[in-house]
Formats: sequence, structure tokens, C-alpha cells
Amino acid sequence: MIDIRIEKTTSPKAKPADESKLGFGKVFTDHMFVMNYTEGRGWHDARIVPYGPISLDPSAMVFHYGQEMFEGLKAYRGKDGKARLFRPDMNAKRANASNERLCIPQIPEEDFVDAIKALVKVDEDWIPTAEGTSLYIRPFVIATDEFLGVAPSKTYLFIIILAPSGAYYASGLAPVGIWIEDEYVRAVKGGIGYAKTGGNYAASLAAQVKAHDDGYSQVLWLDGVERKYIEEVGAMNIFFKIDGKIVTPMLNGSILPGITRNSVINLCKSWGMEVEERKISVDELLEAQKAGKLEEVFGTGTAAVISPVGKLRYKDEVMTIGDGGIGKTSQKIYDTVTGIQWGTVEDPFGWSVVVE
Ligand SMILES: *Cc1c(COP(=O)(O)O)cnc(C)c1O
Repeated sequence: MIDIRIEKTTSPKAKPADESKLGFGKVFTDHMFVMNYTEGRGWHDARIVPYGPISLDPSAMVFHYGQEMFEGLKAYRGKDGKARLFRPDMNAKRANASNERLCIPQIPEEDFVDAIKALVKVDEDWIPTAEGTSLYIRPFVIATDEFLGVAPSKTYLFIIILAPSGAYYASGLAPVGIWIEDEYVRAVKGGIGYAKTGGNYAASLAAQVKAHDDGYSQVLWLDGVERKYIEEVGAMNIFFKIDGKIVTPMLNGSILPGITRNSVINLCKSWGMEVEERKISVDELLEAQKAGKLEEVFGTGTAAVISPVGKLRYKDEVMTIGDGGIGKTSQKIYDTVTGIQWGTVEDPFGWSVVVE
């Protein structure tokens, strides 16, 4: 069990009065978790302190070469008033997979989860209560050595911040338009695509701006070598329902292994659906669409859980998926996963973790 010093704020902030105006990632709670790493000493000085700016030397390595890792999960306020996390052990494991790739020291999984629980407990009153709202949790590690040489840092900060966030869907699931990107690529095998790190997002911005300018909300990436095979969407994994089967790109090293992705695969299998993790080419999608077999397309991620895709654009072709609305399977998965998260649906998988 990690030993955490707790220093509470003497000037708590007013909590947002109107939970319908929370949006995402703009409001932060009263406290944050901070822990230092020093080579030779390991992780030390775990503490929960008042939320506020941190001071870093302009030469801190993270600013120059991007040695950083982040995670994202949520705490949900159940109808029973309890705070719940969704599979936080998976975030701990993935954090360490990212850490390993980025030469950041490992964080004991138990400490990672305990730190989240302790911070959520301290700021529990910040978990919003309106339907669909949640407390977004952002753990991250940054390299802090004051040095302009290219090498792994010898010192790090592990920080967790919390952001009360509004309902992703104000009025039920809403389909989005997606732009299949054929110019830029996000990641290649052997690179950092499977790590949750800022660099992948820096690489994505130009395509996102282009897609937005054309009225599409997200980019769907193709593989970095042949630009033929489907990878994933901005901050979501992607699923297709083709002729009754659920198909999603296999984890190949350049795709982020989403926890929602893993949950959706397990859930569909538990319902007796056929699920295939494999390569899917754009051509296969175009053909399935022409044959009337592309039944549903949806993204999966912590933010939206399920994001139904109504429209897919590839070069000069625009495919309308189904009737452009929300597929039956998409809706069923959404209802089940969010039900487990909010504690209103039975959880046979043991995914939901109450914060005591
Ligand atoms: C975080 C993330 C996802 C979704 O992962 P979840 O664990 O389901 O939230 C998908 N793709 C990218 C690039 C991501 O950063």
C-alpha cells in the first residue's frame, strides 16, 4: 500500500453550479496527486496537495523531446451515491506498457490504482451527479531533468488531475461523420502508436484540422506503410458490423489498445456474437457497403463509450452507414457498458470498482 501524505486546500473552489455546462477538461478539482521519481531512489514523496501550477525549469526534458505518458479514465456517481471506476487495473497495465516504450520507470500497478482511488476519495464531492456526467481522471508522467541532451530523463513527476465533465451525449447517442485520412499517417509498426503519449496526438493535429474544415468530426487512420488497412480513430478504436459479424482491427503495435475496445469484444462474445480481430482494408469496407453488408460502424473510447458513425468519407466516396443513424448493436453495447459503469446493470465481469 502506497503511503500518501494529504495536504488539503484551505481555500476550496466553488463547484460548478450548472452541470449541463461542464463540457470536457476545462474545470479542475481542489486537489492533485503528485509523486517524484529520482534515479537510485525510485518513486517517492507520494502526496495529495492543493491543485495548482507546477514549476519546471525551461530546460525540463519533457518540453523538448516529449518524453511523457498519459492515461484517461473516469469516476462515475452511481444512483446509489457511490463512486465507481471502470477497470482501473487496465489503465495501470497500459500506463506501464507506455512507460516501457518511452523509457519511463514502471509504476507499481497497485500504487497507480491506489493513488487514483485516494485522490477521487479526497475530491469525491466533485463527481457530478446529473445523468451522463462523470469525473474525468488524467494520470500522467513527465520527464523533468534539466538537460537538453537526448537521453531518458533520470527524474520524473507522476501527477493525477481530475476534471468534472459533462455528459458526452446531451440527448442520446448521436452519429458522427468520419474522414478516412489518405495523406497523413499517425503511427507505424515499431513506433509509439500503441503507447498513450502526447507525440501521437501532436502527429494527428494537421489531419484533424483538415477533417474539421471539411465538416467531419474525426479522422480514421490507415496503416502507415500501405495506407490500405484501417487502424483507429483520433482517440477511439473502430468497430464494424459486417454481415452480422463484429470486426475490428487487430492490435498490431501501431494501434492504441483501448480498454473500451477490450470490453466491447468481451461483451459481444458473451452475447454469442462472432468477433474478429484482424486486418480490414478500406477496399473491403467499400465492397461490403456496395453489397449492403456494412451494417454498423462505431468508435469506442472512454470519452463517448460508443460513437456511432453515420458517414464515412474516403477520397471522393462518401458512404452512409445503414440509415445514417444508430445501429441496434451500437445502442445495446452503449446501454450495457454505461449501465455497468453507473452501477444500474449487473456486472458479470467484475469491471466496476467502487471507491470506498
Ligand atoms: C485512449 C485512446 C483510445 C481509447 O482507449 P480507451 O481505453 O478505450 O479510452 C483509442 N485511441 C487512442 C489513440 C487513444 O489515445
